[in-house]
This record gives sequence, C-alpha cells and structure tokens, in this order.
Amino acid sequence: MTRYIFITGGVVSSLGKGLASAALGALLQARGYSVRLRKLDPYLNVDPGTMSPTQHGEVYVTDDGAETDLDLGHYERFTGVASRQSDNVTTGRIYQQILAKERRGDYLGRTVQVIPHVTDAIKEFVLNEPEGTDFILCEIGGTVGDIESLPFLEAIRQLGNDLPRGQTAYVHATLVPYIAAAGELKTKPTQHSVKELRSIGIQPDVLLCRSDREIPPHEQRKIALFCNVRESSVIQALDCRSIYEVPLAYHEEGFDREVLDVFGIENPPPADLTRWREIHGRIESPEGTVKIAIVGKYTDLQDAYKSLGEALVHGGLANQVKVELQWIESETFEQPDAVQRLEGVDGILVPGGFGERGAEGKIAAATFARTKNVPYFGICFGMQMAVIEAARNLAGLSGASSTEFGACDDPVVGLMTEWTEGNVLQTRGLDDDKGGTMRLGQYACRLIQGSKVDKVYANGAVNGAADGAVQGHTISERHRHRYEVNINYREALEAVGMRFSGLSPDGALPEIVELEDHPWFIGVQFHPELKSKPFEPHPLFASFIAAAVDQMRLV
Ligand code: GLN
Repeated sequence: MTRYIFITGGVVSSLGKGLASAALGALLQARGYSVRLRKLDPYLNVDPGTMSPTQHGEVYVTDDGAETDLDLGHYERFTGVASRQSDNVTTGRIYQQILAKERRGDYLGRTVQVIPHVTDAIKEFVLNEPEGTDFILCEIGGTVGDIESLPFLEAIRQLGNDLPRGQTAYVHATLVPYIAAAGELKTKPTQHSVKELRSIGIQPDVLLCRSDREIPPHEQRKIALFCNVRESSVIQALDCRSIYEVPLAYHEEGFDREVLDVFGIENPPPADLTRWREIHGRIESPEGTVKIAIVGKYTDLQDAYKSLGEALVHGGLANQVKVELQWIESETFEQPDAVQRLEGVDGILVPGGFGERGAEGKIAAATFARTKNVPYFGICFGMQMAVIEAARNLAGLSGASSTEFGACDDPVVGLMTEWTEGNVLQTRGLDDDKGGTMRLGQYACRLIQGSKVDKVYANGAVNGAADGAVQGHTISERHRHRYEVNINYREALEAVGMRFSGLSPDGALPEIVELEDHPWFIGVQFHPELKSKPFEPHPLFASFIAAAVDQMRLV
C-alpha cells in the first residue's frame, strides 16, 4: 500500500519546504520505509529549462533527461533515490497535455474545464508509478493563497477522499516571525494561512512552524487551538547551521513520528540516523579550510549553482575540511590584472554557463590556474573555456573559440548537430526550439586507461563513490549542453599536453580533458555535481578538494 504525504507552504516563500520534504523523506527512509518525492510547480512554463537561473535557480537534470526544479536535487541528495521526469510537473506541462488531447478530439465534444480535467491530470501525476513505494511525498510549490496553486490544492483535497481512509496526510509549513519591537513571536500569519487552506477544504494534520527562535509551549498550544491541529502536531522547525542538520533537528522535534501517527502507525521501526549524525559531526569539526573560487556568471544568486555548492561541501566532507566558497563574477577578470584576485585561492572552479558574456574572464581564470599550477575544475562551459584557453595559448590557435559566440577561425567548441541516444540518431538545427532540445540526461563515457580521471573514479569507487559512477572503465554522468568540444582538434591539443581522457563510447564526443603537466586540471562536459551526495561524495569533487588541500599546504 502506498501512502501519500502532501506538503504545502504558507505565509511566505523560501520557507525551506523543499528541504523539509527531503528531510522527511530521509527520516522515513531511516525507519526502513521506501520513499519517492515529487514536486508540483504551479507556474506556466512547461519546465524550468528555459527559465533564467538568476530567477528560478538551478535547473536540476535527471538521468532520464528531464529539466526539473532544484528541489529535486535536495530530494536526491537526501534520499539517494534518483529522480525522474515523472517526479516533477508544472501547470504548463499539465495544460500542454490537456490541450494536445483536446486538439486530438479525445474529449469527444465535452467542455474542457479546470475541474475535473486539470485536477484529474494533476491527480494522475501524483498517483503515477507508485511501484510499491511505502510513501510518496508531494510538495506543492508556491504559497497557499496564490491564484496559480488553486487547481493543485483542489486536486490534493480530492485525493483525500479518492484514496482509502488513512492513506493521505497533509503537512503545512508556515512561518512564525519574531517582531523585535514587540519582543514577541507572532502566530497570526500561521493562523491565517491555515484558515486559507481550510477554506478550500484542506485541514492540515501536521504544522511545521519555521522560526528563528524557540516557540514557547503556550504559543504552540495557541497555534494548535486556532488551527485545529493536535498540540503534538505543531512542530517547531528552527533554523539550522547546515542543511544536513535538518533531518536530525526535525526528528528531535518529532516530525516523522507525528506524520506516521497520522497514518495510524503508532509503533514504527526506530529511525537509524547514524549516517546523518556522522555527516553532521564531520561538518561541525573540520580539520582545516580550503578556499575555492567559483568563477561564473550567475554569482548573485547562489541557488543558480545549488548542486555545485553542495557537491563542494561533499568534497570537503570526504577530506574532513571546510570549503569556503568565493563567488566571483567572471566579467571582472576582463579588466587587466584583475585575475590577480585569484592569488591565494586553493582551487578554481568554472561552472556551467551559457552565452558570451563573461567568457573571456573564464578563459583568463583558466590561464591563471594553468600557469600558476592551481587546481582547476571546469564543468561543461568551464571545460569548453579551458579547451579554448589551451588551443589559443598552448597550441597557438589564436582564432580558437566556440561557435556559441559566432563564427571563428578555429571552432574548438562547436554546435552539436548529431549524436546517438541509445541506438537512435538525434539531430538538431540552429533554429530549433530552445526548450528541451539540448543533449540532456545520462550518457556513458569511456575513460582512457591510465589517465588521471580513470584513477580518480577508481579511487572514488573504493571509497564508496557516487552511485553508478564506475562500471569497469565506463562511467555514466548527466549532461545539459548544446555545444561540444570538437574532436577534430584532439591531435593538436594532445600534442601540447591536453589529454582527451574521456570519450563517448563511439569515440566521437570528447567528454573529459586533463592537463598532463599540472597537479589537477580537469574539464568535464557533464555535470558531476548532480550525482553527488553527502554520504557518497562524487569522486571528482572529493579529488578536487584533496588537490586543493595539497595546494593549501603549499602556500
Ligand atoms: N553553453 C554551453 C553549451 O550549451 C555549456 C552549457 C553548460 O555549461 N551547461 O554547450
């Protein structure tokens, strides 16, 4: 029997609902239950793939090539369960399906309406592929009271009646703010938000009350009374120093126990939180700090590089060090000598990105890392920039660039118009739609025996590296890009010490490059950060941070 937990949010956005959902999933898992997490996003975009990272944060890519909300990254990092396309839906996608059906004539002349057609489609999404999972957790994006989220709330309300009694639970996350002038915590916003939820027919079972300080028992009693929930179901959710402390803190407050109680599970198996305690312990007692510069374009909003920041933390966990991040806008390096700002950092990372703005700054950062022997990790765009740098400054191809920025003499990075997905040839043209047309999702990569990355992955496997990373000498990683390093420049680049150490199985697409004569200089066409987990740090991040630790000792 699959049980469903619906998580809504009230009062304000950015309450940490995604993390709370991920933490609840992890806690249920710690008690031996199987879980799957889903996100329902009320906006009209079909997926976040076309949305600006500075507005919406990172686009999280799944193995099956879906471009999804960044909360799915939290889900996967906290539970280890790989997310899929079928775990994230938006209003746009729902309408796209319904309108396609309408055009096909599937509705046989009936009027197509929000209730029941849109709500039915939402319910279908919630109930799809339960596969015997014990708990499916569905987070509803947005805040209760938004016009956009009404059909989603209506659908989950209906599910409470559609499913047998005792198979659904409603968790509502709210904010209990502290008003400094009055010196008081205020429960009114929570009361109003629950009132709103109840007016559309949903009575929350458990309230997760976010607060920056302890909520005294009498205030908790007041919330219970006015919101019609049990006193024990008012869970105080205080700010934590690290996100990996959240499962431990919420468990202490009885969050998972209360949710299980809603289902009538009174004596659940105890939670084994050993691995969370261990991670928490490591975070609390680092043996040093390494400084990593992230040279990117969306540095104002760190959510734009969510998984990257987390994967670096995981790399730190593997080496028992704290990783201090310096976010640097790459355009600043386009001023003469500005690159000297990188003096004193222990590692430089150039992440994924799109478009020409700031590209020369990233290339300058790669030159700095190469010539000063500072560890360099180029991810996707960061790999492409490292290749342009080597082509220009080592191979003497002064006109080397990427066709993403326009025509050039030496297109060492070019538009990928053909590749194979399974046995199917994919083709793309310049004028194709932007949405969902990149090379997306999991692809195999063959590591060249004896290369540095080959050793990195092999060592990672010994230490319990990211899942599925090593299969003999073939790894599998997630992609999201339109351009590709041009294999025709392999010889010219290898002759000057940039080795093509990972290739697509057919040998046509360069997946990894590395500098032979450098302590740690690796560029990867894929996004390893998407598969890193706190209890299974990705081998590339573990190795990069290890190199940064060596660098720190040198300085
Ligand atoms: N803009 C580059 C491409 O499309 C890199 C994309 C990325 O870094 N994710 O290939």
